[in-house]
Amino acid sequence: MSTQMSRPRVNVVTLGCSKNIHDSEVLMGQLKGNQMEVVHEASNIQESDIVVINTCGFIDNAKQESIDTILQYSALKEEGKINKVIVTGCLSERYKPELQSEISNVDAYFGTNDLPELLTTIGADYRHELIGERLLSTPSHFSYFKIAEGCNRPCSFCAIPLMRGKHVSKSIDDLVKEARFLASNGTKELILIAQDLTYYGLDIYGKRNLADLLRHLSDVDGIEWIRLQYAYPSGFPMDILDAMNERSNICNYLDMPLQHISDNMLKSMRRGTTKQKQIDLVHQIRDKVPDIALRTTLICGYPGETEQDFNEMLEWVEETRFDRLGCFTYSHEEKTHAHTLADDVPQEEKESRVEQIMEVQQGISYEVNQGKIGQTFKVLVDRVDGDYFIGRTEYDSPEVDNEVVLDARTDYARIGDFVQVKVERAEDFDLYGKVIK
Ligand code: SF4
Repeated sequence: MSTQMSRPRVNVVTLGCSKNIHDSEVLMGQLKGNQMEVVHEASNIQESDIVVINTCGFIDNAKQESIDTILQYSALKEEGKINKVIVTGCLSERYKPELQSEISNVDAYFGTNDLPELLTTIGADYRHELIGERLLSTPSHFSYFKIAEGCNRPCSFCAIPLMRGKHVSKSIDDLVKEARFLASNGTKELILIAQDLTYYGLDIYGKRNLADLLRHLSDVDGIEWIRLQYAYPSGFPMDILDAMNERSNICNYLDMPLQHISDNMLKSMRRGTTKQKQIDLVHQIRDKVPDIALRTTLICGYPGETEQDFNEMLEWVEETRFDRLGCFTYSHEEKTHAHTLADDVPQEEKESRVEQIMEVQQGISYEVNQGKIGQTFKVLVDRVDGDYFIGRTEYDSPEVDNEVVLDARTDYARIGDFVQVKVERAEDFDLYGKVIK
C-alpha cells in the first residue's frame, strides 16, 4: 500500500464478457488520465490500495463467481491488506440493495452507467477529453470494440436489458476516432461487440448502419482485421456481407447466437424468428460469403424443452455443421419473462443435452480441421505458451475459438505479428503448422 501523500494505486478486476473488459479498460484509461497507478488483476494484492471489481450478473455461475470475488476482497480489506473495495458492473446494477445489506463492508456499489460517480469516489475526475481512449487489458494487438450499449430485444430468458438498458449506438465519428487511437497504439484487430451488433444505427441513424460503419473502420490505417461478434438473426442486414466481400480486412467470420431451432422453443424464447428463417439465413450468408466461419451459441434445457425439441436441435447442428459453437444450460433468471415459466428440465438433463451437442460439434470441428491440412493461413500470433507460439486465423476469435500452434524451437515469430502458416496437422480445436517465409 502506498504512503498517505501519494495517489492511490488501483487494481481493476474484470469478470464476465468482453463488454465488461471494454468497460474496465475505459475506467483504467480514466484512472491513468488522472495520474493514478492502475493495474489489471494484480497478482500481488499488496500492490494496490483500492480494488474495483467489475462484476457479471448474467447467469447463475457468473453471479456466483462475482459474489465469491467480492467476498475474497472484502476479507482482505478486513485483514487491512487493502483500503477500499468498490463494486461495479452488472451484478451490482441488478442486485445493489441485496449486496449492500449482505456484504456491507464494501465501500461503494455502482451500476453499469456510473463511471463519473465511481471516479469521484476514488478521488479522480471524469475526463471528457479521454473519450475513446482506453488502457487495454488484452494483448495490445487486438481490442474488444464496443459499438453500442444495451438491447431492445425481448428474449424471454435474458436479463441483460435489465442491467444494460435500451440500445444506444455510438456515432461513426466517435468510433473512428477510437479506432485511430487504438491503431496508433498498436492495435491491428478490432473485435466488434455489442449486445445486438446488427441493431447498430437504428436509434441514431434511423437505419441499420453496420455496413457503413464497417467501411469507415476498414479505412483506418493499421487495422488489419475487423471481426463481428453478437449478430442477431431477425432483421439481419445482408449488406454487411457485401462490405465483408469488398474489404479484405473485414474477417470472413460471423458470431450469431441462435439459441435454438425448434419453433416451439423459438416462440417461447420470443426470438422473433422461426426455424425456417434461421435455416434460410444461414444458407444465404454462406452463399454470399462461401468461406465464412460461422459461430453460434445455443441453450439447452429451456422451460418446456421436450425430447423432441432437443432432438430437432441436435439434428440441425449435425446438418448445419457450424464452424464454431458454444452451448449453455438454461439459467432461471428472476425478472425475466421466462422466469414466469416452470424450470422443468432437471439440471442433469440440461447438462447431458449440452454434452450431446458439444460431442457432435467436436466431431464436426475435427473433420473441418482435417480439411485445412496443407493449406496456408495468415495467422496473428497472440502469445507464447511454453515451447509454442499460439495464434489465430481470421476464422477464430480469442478465448473461444480454435488456435494455431507453432513450435518455437523451430519457428520464429513475435507476439502481435502476422505470419503465413502452412497447416501440417489438425486436431478437434487446434491446428499445428509451420511458418512459411
Ligand atoms: S439480443 Fe442478446 S442481449 Fe438482447 S435480449 Fe436477446 S439474448 Fe439478451
